Amino acid sequence: MSVALLEAKDFSSGTSSKSSKLIHGGLRYLAMGHFRVVRHTARERAVVHALAPHLCEPHWMVFPVASRRWLALMAVVVRVYETLGGVKRSDRHRRWGRAEVAQNEPALRAEKSRYAVTFREYLTDDCRLVLANLRDAVASGAQVANYLSVDGLLGENQAEGVTAQCALTGRSIQVKAAVVVNATGPWVDATRQLEADVEPRLALSRGIHVAVRRTDLPVNNLVTMTGSDGRPVFALPRGPVTYLGTTDTRHLDPATHHPSVEQIDVDFLLTTVEDYFDISLTPKQVTGAWAGLRPLISKPGQTTSELSRKDEVWVGPRGVVTVAGGKLTGYLQMADDVLEAVETQFSAEQSLTSRAEFSGTISVSKTLPGGDIASDLSLAAQTLDTDHGLGLPIAERLVRRYGSEAGAVIALGKEPVAPGAHLLSGEIVWAVQVDGALFLADVLERRTGSMWFDPEVGALVEPVAQQLSGLLGWTAEQTSEQIALLERQQETDLTFI
Ligand SMILES: Cc1cc2nc3c(=O)[nH]c(=O)nc-3n(C[C@H](O)[C@H](O)[C@H](O)COP(=O)(O)OP(=O)(O)OC[C@H]3O[C@@H](n4cnc5c(N)ncnc54)[C@H](O)[C@@H]3O)c2cc1C
Repeated sequence: MSVALLEAKDFSSGTSSKSSKLIHGGLRYLAMGHFRVVRHTARERAVVHALAPHLCEPHWMVFPVASRRWLALMAVVVRVYETLGGVKRSDRHRRWGRAEVAQNEPALRAEKSRYAVTFREYLTDDCRLVLANLRDAVASGAQVANYLSVDGLLGENQAEGVTAQCALTGRSIQVKAAVVVNATGPWVDATRQLEADVEPRLALSRGIHVAVRRTDLPVNNLVTMTGSDGRPVFALPRGPVTYLGTTDTRHLDPATHHPSVEQIDVDFLLTTVEDYFDISLTPKQVTGAWAGLRPLISKPGQTTSELSRKDEVWVGPRGVVTVAGGKLTGYLQMADDVLEAVETQFSAEQSLTSRAEFSGTISVSKTLPGGDIASDLSLAAQTLDTDHGLGLPIAERLVRRYGSEAGAVIALGKEPVAPGAHLLSGEIVWAVQVDGALFLADVLERRTGSMWFDPEVGALVEPVAQQLSGLLGWTAEQTSEQIALLERQQETDLTFI
């Protein structure tokens, strides 16, 4: 089977760069009775960890409670979660008493956080997880292209491929295919319209995140708070920042790659922090912000926070296979579901493709690029530091970002992109030569996360743009345009300040 993937903008530029970056089953969905979703996604954590330990790192999720009664109740809920997720004994939850809470999360306010249940969850870098999977697909023979937007279907009745337009050249191309898959997230309904005039089936929900300096909100683990709407709000440490999220607001406008970050949502997150910490944060302390759209499948009478996160696969009137809903965590299972539908389409078309060409399930016996690394990332970082002398913080960041390929990235250039910066020039070369970056935002948002997770990103913009202009052959005018575009986007994301 040969596969081509066309992405309208940059890889992971839709919802998959805007998530909370948790590979998790979602305790909340258990309370909502969505046992199958929780079971699937909770079990998926171990699979993704085995594929890419650097992109699925175990952490303790701390759920603070005010009383012993709540401690006992939460421990039961977590126990069910662990049983559904097949969590191994050594990773099972712990109960923290007052002393342990004070020692491990000293910034938490005692009245609301006398005790805590802590359980295993996994943190990822959603953009890099997407890239790792794409590179894995390419290694198996797939062709992938970014900035190529599908705008029509080939064929009279059954879809026999797509037409697409290149955002760089404006050129139109045709890609013939026995089966077309629509995996366009929040744009699923718009893409279904290429097939026929069909009823929309998605309900989009906007969720935002904001980042503040870690020194302004010091947390050591993943901390779960409960917002005034009863939903969880996470405080998650990543390098020099702690990021907070998320919200759930119905988005009625058409899907967009950059939904707005609304003041009311920012206030909601910062107020929740005040409930749990002796810390009062103001919007001025926010160093990065982003919003994304959940592509949920609508059900009459349900609000977006009540809607199931389960994925569904539909076959349209012209045979296009659409996959919708789901979570980042469950992507392998979703791919399996799609494969099953594609196989049925092949059979229905009596294609010459034999069943034997389908391996049946997605292979999990190997690792993703960079994933052949020991689970103990700290040890790998120490070795990298010893070998290259970059300092432990940089080595740790490189190991988490590139896994076993960190050494290859360093070989492309170990000098910082600007004096005192943590970002290395080799990372910019890698972003272009290996990870398919074409624009400044591709590098500073998705390949490196600097726009969201580095409070000092302002000092990186100009030098990174200059390095990219050399690598991509930009004129001085194009370079300035790239800088202006990125700065405008950042201004828009941070208008609430
Ligand atoms: C705030 C928030 C927090 C979340 N947190 C988590 C979490 O912690 N853990 C978790 O597991 N899940 C989480 N999720 C859910 C998860 O992020 C999404 O389910 C997942 O990323 C959706 O992926 P997708 O590929 O379906 O959509 P997308 O990532 O949006 O991908 C669809 C792609 O299709 C492209 N496209 C659109 N139209 C066309 C066209 N015509 N031609 C070519 N390409 C096109 C778009 O550019 C886009 O890149 C969160 C979601 C949100 C909004």
